[in-house]
Amino acid sequence: MIYRDFQDIRLSGLGFGAMRLPVIDGDDANIDEEQTFNMVDRAMASGINYYDTAWGYHDGNSEIVMGKALAGYPRDKFYIATKFPGYDLSNMPRVKEIFEKQLEKTGMEYFDFYLFHNVCEMNIEQYLDPKYGIYDYLMEQKKNGRIRHLGFSCHGEYETMKRFLDAYGKDMEFCQIQLNYLDWKFQDAKAKVDLLNEWNIPVWVMEPLRGGKLAKLDDQSESELKSLRPDEDIAAWAFRFLQSIESVTMVLSGMSDMEQLKTNIKTYEEDKPLTAGEMEALMKVTDRLMSKKSIPCTACHYCVSHCPMGLDIPYFISLYNEHLLTVQDGGMAFIAPMALAAIPEEKRPVSCLHCHSCEHVCPQSIKISDMMSDFVEKIG
Ligand code: SF4
Ligand code: SF4
Repeated sequence: MIYRDFQDIRLSGLGFGAMRLPVIDGDDANIDEEQTFNMVDRAMASGINYYDTAWGYHDGNSEIVMGKALAGYPRDKFYIATKFPGYDLSNMPRVKEIFEKQLEKTGMEYFDFYLFHNVCEMNIEQYLDPKYGIYDYLMEQKKNGRIRHLGFSCHGEYETMKRFLDAYGKDMEFCQIQLNYLDWKFQDAKAKVDLLNEWNIPVWVMEPLRGGKLAKLDDQSESELKSLRPDEDIAAWAFRFLQSIESVTMVLSGMSDMEQLKTNIKTYEEDKPLTAGEMEALMKVTDRLMSKKSIPCTACHYCVSHCPMGLDIPYFISLYNEHLLTVQDGGMAFIAPMALAAIPEEKRPVSCLHCHSCEHVCPQSIKISDMMSDFVEKIG
């Protein structure tokens, strides 16, 4: 396992993300504990010492299951991170209650890493508003040792991140952003990395594979990359890209099954940053991906609980993307119509009320309501 220095500790370069754990019967809230425990055991045995969970992951159950999975290990052998769920504005006045509950849920006496979750346009005013006392409360927990390192995650625009840093940057020890070779250009992640470098704040990475999309590319891109590194699998390119960025300290990958975990561990046995030529080739792949114009949903599920119709938004977006790509590539687009036909009418895109409630919490700023209309128009 590759390690990175962070202050006076050593962190594994790869962190165990607990946002997409294996589940039973496709129910996101029903985590497969046995599989998860086996995966955590494997991760610990392989040297992964960073475990990232959050209040909202798996409908609130990720913190509980990760607490159980780590309970058998000495407390100084792992670092656990969780977050204040400010992506839901109703949580803003509840920082003390939520923090105490998180300690209880995980069974921890302190958190090694704690983040303001998902700083973005929707919540920046509240995060900065002293009336909620979030910053003061978290700083107090840091002083009393119940938070060892304080940071933030950000899905917002550059200007929003800058506002947050101007207010609290002097106390932020790390920042988690969505970073991968597609977002380097697509979401201008490069500018955010440069900004964090100005503040000397190390970068934590989420969505290195963009919700799994960078694990499989089109045939042309795959053969171009294979010709440069025949022994490297396609997903590994996403990690090698991140190993080429100096300030990247932690890369979190949402672990969904043992095979994926093993593949990621293998990639992190070695530091193999890209050469200038390889980087150039990868940026060409990025340009090609961007030209496909698929909707950049990461399947985080934040939107789902905000939909009054209970629509499975990320599922529809994945079907929509699949449909568009198939049509663009000249294929027979039958998968999406077939999948929709299997869903009751009141749960299909046609039932969207266009209330935009989902869009207020989408970290990717996806125009979900427009997508629903277009989907209905395209498929009927
Ligand atoms: S816009 Fe449509 S998908 Fe979004 S919350 Fe409203 S009903 Fe649900
Ligand atoms: S539409 Fe946005 S909020 Fe919903 S799952 Fe996709 S990225 Fe997450």
